[in-house]
Amino acid sequence: MGPVSSDAVNRYLKQTRELFGDELFLEKKAVSSTTGPTPINSDYPSDLVNFYEQIHQCHNCALGNSRTQFVFGVGDPNASLVLVGEAPGEQEDLKGEPFVGRAGQLLDKILAAIDRSRQKDVYICNVLKCRPPNNRDPLAEEVSECEPYLIHQINLIQPKLIVALGRVAGKTLLNVDKPLKSMRGSLHYYHGTPLIVTYHPAALLRNPNWKPETWKDFKWIRSIIDA
Ligand code: SF4
Repeated sequence: MGPVSSDAVNRYLKQTRELFGDELFLEKKAVSSTTGPTPINSDYPSDLVNFYEQIHQCHNCALGNSRTQFVFGVGDPNASLVLVGEAPGEQEDLKGEPFVGRAGQLLDKILAAIDRSRQKDVYICNVLKCRPPNNRDPLAEEVSECEPYLIHQINLIQPKLIVALGRVAGKTLLNVDKPLKSMRGSLHYYHGTPLIVTYHPAALLRNPNWKPETWKDFKWIRSIIDA
């Protein structure tokens, strides 16, 4: 990499300050809690395009009847980082893409601050591929039907790190019922892949005071995926 101009440094600092405020950041220590890897499911195709084709008309749970669009996921099929939300919301259901609208735009800014984007080294998806009515939390039976799709996506992508966005995604993936603050700051494992839990971007829109904590998490995330 060539020399970095002072203009580029200033732009970067201005961008991160706008996003996260004045706090400076220290990396966190990893604490492990593991579950083993899940073998590739040979009933599913070995690439994401054909996997989408196989499952996009799924009706394995009742959400298949109420959705507008199936929301598979977007991004780099060879990503180091997979971001996972709980389920599509209203805008995602209409557009067929995860994390759109204001929360999605904020997520894009956060990714830009760690020199990533949804086209570059990042894949974004949800635990559920269809929207629960009125954005209620996923039901256990919906997760049970849909989670094998997520596991297969992750097995195909083989990221260095999974980031669960928000408490519901974190507790669903970790199969625990804990508040977000007790899941943040530790390195967990999801079927053998390291996993971190951080704030959902929609929560940051509601409470900007959480942005500095989120930036700490993303500094840590960057240190893992850059290693
Ligand atoms: S939520 Fe998942 S399991 Fe349920 S219909 Fe949609 S794709 Fe199928």
